Amino acid sequence: MNLLEIKNLHAEIDGKPILNGVDLVIPAGQSHAVMGPNGSGKSTLSYVLLGHPKYTVTKGDILFKGESIVDKTPDERARLGMFLSLQYPTSIPGVTGLNFLKNVLKNIRGQDVPVREFRKEVNEALTKLDMKTDFMQRYVNDGFSGGEKKRNEILQMSLIQPALAILDEIDSGLDVDALRIIAQNIEAMRSSERSMLLITHYQRLLSYLTIDRIHIFVGGTIRMSGGKELAKQLEESGYERLLQEA
Ligand code: ADP
Ligand code: MG
Ligand code: MG
Repeated sequence: MNLLEIKNLHAEIDGKPILNGVDLVIPAGQSHAVMGPNGSGKSTLSYVLLGHPKYTVTKGDILFKGESIVDKTPDERARLGMFLSLQYPTSIPGVTGLNFLKNVLKNIRGQDVPVREFRKEVNEALTKLDMKTDFMQRYVNDGFSGGEKKRNEILQMSLIQPALAILDEIDSGLDVDALRIIAQNIEAMRSSERSMLLITHYQRLLSYLTIDRIHIFVGGTIRMSGGKELAKQLEESGYERLLQEA
């Protein structure tokens, strides 16, 4: 089954076209990477997939589990199983990580999560991410270091257990140890039912992961797709030469 099908997707913000015909299919169980230069529209693609209201889809369609979702709200998309880790996670002063997560899970699962079970799930996820329990008492992303923000995103993902995880530059600003831990946690979430879309600039993150396909994204569209070797070629050649040689 194809979990995600993006068909000739065009989208704009404030009348400015950013996505110019994106076609992408991710079968259930596969992890795909999107790589592309700054400003090519990668983050826009992730926002449009989750239904950010600032962006307008002007053409094309997005099918999730075989159903068109372009008219659905971000909340509905999340409940269907879509998850986005933002390139720049937003802080929520006044709301502790624990309370935030409890509410997110309640919304997605449609029922209260029993306190003891919740604590256990959170503690297990924290341990896997090499994080301390008191981290959850802090306000969400408030004064977090770059690495803490990214760990927190992965923590959310591991509790939410989404069908589709879109991770926008989850590896940016991480030291080598944090990168390895985050990569291990991402890889551990691979399953035959779950798909992932990883947006990254670097081959390094991908080297830790099972990646089924890499897409080179330039000017709001996928210009080239291939296997994992593409990331290495890209690092050696750069975008312009890679596309010219192809
Ligand atoms: P990437 O993630 O690949 O670096 P983005 O999706 O963030 O690219 O941005 C794609 C393009 O959209 C850029 O040229 C950026 O300047 C433009 N853009 C983003 N937000 C807005 C906005 N609010 N108004 C106009 N242009 C925008
Ligand atoms: Mg960028
Ligand atoms: Mg971006």
